[in-house]
Amino acid sequence: MERTLCIIKPDAVSAGNVGNIIAHIQKEGFRILAMRMTTLSKKSASKFYEVHQGRPFYDSLVEFMSSGPCVPIALEKDNAIAEWRRVIGSTDPAEAAAGTIRKLYAKNKGENAVHGSDSVENGLREIAFFFTEGELADLA
Ligand code: ATP
Ligand code: MG
Repeated sequence: MERTLCIIKPDAVSAGNVGNIIAHIQKEGFRILAMRMTTLSKKSASKFYEVHQGRPFYDSLVEFMSSGPCVPIALEKDNAIAEWRRVIGSTDPAEAAAGTIRKLYAKNKGENAVHGSDSVENGLREIAFFFTEGELADLA
């Protein structure tokens, strides 16, 4: 079993798509280990996305991710990193495959509905950013 971090981003929360996205997660067979709704401070959003510091979209990304509530969700599945990225689709919804979460719910390349970790190592680091070990469900 592998773990990945989903974040339902502020655009999808404000558009009322939290339930639809959680249903999509469960239909695809991911197990939800932990979940909460939270509003990131600019400082937390900057820290979470620090790998992108210096990129042209960094400031707008930090602004957007701290603009309202988001829903981080720790997920588990075989091959979870690649599987979750398949389910969410390309960064830009214009290029995302039909039926993917970003095709269904993203507004544009910046406000793109969901986050997905890009490696096993980053997935574990990102889950630890939001959740303590004790908050992760121990599902039989
Ligand atoms: P995420 O890491 O959020 O799952 P991703 O891995 O598909 O998305 P990254 O390249 O890691 O894409 O970029 C992180 C986020 O920064 C994107 O999801 C998007 O919100 C924003 N972003 C990336 N590129 C651009 C861009 N060219 N213009 C505006 N925003 C962008
Ligand atoms: Mg990324």
